[in-house]
Amino acid sequence: MIRTNSTAQVVEFIFSIKLNNLNIHYILFLVPEFLSIFATEIKNSIMVIQSLSIVVPTKGCMNSCRFCVSRMRKDNYPDLISKHMTDEEKFYYTEEYKKRLSFARDNGCNTVMLTGQGEPQQNMSFIKRFYEMNNELAMPFRNIEIQTTGASIHEATIIELRNYGISTISLSVSCLNDIFTNSDIINYGKNPIDVPSLCCLIKKYNINLRLSLNMTDMLFLNNRNHDDNPEFKEIFSFCKSLGADQVTFRKMYMSSKYTPVTPQDQWINEHNIIEYNSSCDWFTLLNKYIIENGKYLDTLEYGNSRYSVDEMSVVVDNDCMSKNSQNKTALKYLILRPNCKLYSKWDDKGSLIF
Ligand code: SF4
Repeated sequence: MIRTNSTAQVVEFIFSIKLNNLNIHYILFLVPEFLSIFATEIKNSIMVIQSLSIVVPTKGCMNSCRFCVSRMRKDNYPDLISKHMTDEEKFYYTEEYKKRLSFARDNGCNTVMLTGQGEPQQNMSFIKRFYEMNNELAMPFRNIEIQTTGASIHEATIIELRNYGISTISLSVSCLNDIFTNSDIINYGKNPIDVPSLCCLIKKYNINLRLSLNMTDMLFLNNRNHDDNPEFKEIFSFCKSLGADQVTFRKMYMSSKYTPVTPQDQWINEHNIIEYNSSCDWFTLLNKYIIENGKYLDTLEYGNSRYSVDEMSVVVDNDCMSKNSQNKTALKYLILRPNCKLYSKWDDKGSLIF
C-alpha cells in the first residue's frame, strides 16, 4: 500500500507508472487510495461556518445598551448596499453582495443572523431587500434569524418579519423578570419593552423564540442573598413560561481582559455575573446545572454543546466574539458588512475574507 501526503504526489506517481507502460491494473489499484486522499484534502479545505451575520445598515441605534459592543469602537464601513445609487451601481453591489452570501452557503452555512450596530427593524426596507436577494441565490438560506431587544416591534412588524422569511427571533434580554430594569439596562427608559407580551406575539405567528440572556447581575431579580444556590431552576421555569424554544446564555464582551477601557467595559466589570460569590463561578455552576438537569443534544460546529432543558434547546456562549476557537478550520461567524465585504472577526478589519 502506498501512502503519500498529497494528491499531487499521487497524480505524479500514477503519471510516472503510466509513462513506463506498467500494467493498468496497478493504476486501478491506486484509484481508491487516490480518491480517499483527495476527499480528505477537500474536507480539510472546507471551512465550517456556524452562521453568517448580516450587518443591517442603520444610522446609529435607537437604544444605548450599557454593555453595547458597537459603542466600544468606531466602525467606518461605507453603506454600499442600501443607500441611493445609480442603477449600474445598484446592480454591481447587489451582485457583489450575493456573491458573498453564496460563498457562505458553499461552505456549508445555512443560518443567517440579521444584526448590526442598530436594531435591524430600524431598516425594514433592507430586510425586504435581503429577502429578495436571498431568494435569487441558487441555494437560498432557509434559516433566517433576527437579533433584537424588541424595541418598537409591534404585531404588524412581526407579521412583516414573518413574511420576509424570518424563522427565529432572538430576543436579547438583560433582566428576565422586571421589564423596567431590563429597559433601564438597554436605556430605552420611557417605553419599557413588554417582553412577555412580545414573546406571546412571536409565538402567535409561529416564529421560533430564542431568549438571548445577557449575563448581568440583574438577569433574574429576587430577594435571595448570594449564600444561596443560584436561581437556575427559576430562570428556566421563567423562560419556559414565556414560551421560549431556545435559550442562549451570553457572556458580555469586554474590549480588554484586564482593565476596563470604555464606559461599557466599566459597566460590565461592575455588573457581570461571572463571580457569583467569593468561591463560586456562575458559569461553572450553570454548566453543572445544565448537565445534571438536561439531555445532551449535539455539539455545534464551533464547539459549544447544546442541551435540552425543560424541552428548550440551551447553549452557553461564553465567547460571543469568536476569540477562542480550538478548531482551526471552523469559523463561528462570518460577517457581511454594508460595504459588501466579508469578514471573520467583528473587531478586526484585517479579518477580511474578500
Ligand atoms: S441594541 Fe445592539 S446596537 Fe443597539 S445599543 Fe443595544 S447592543 Fe448596541
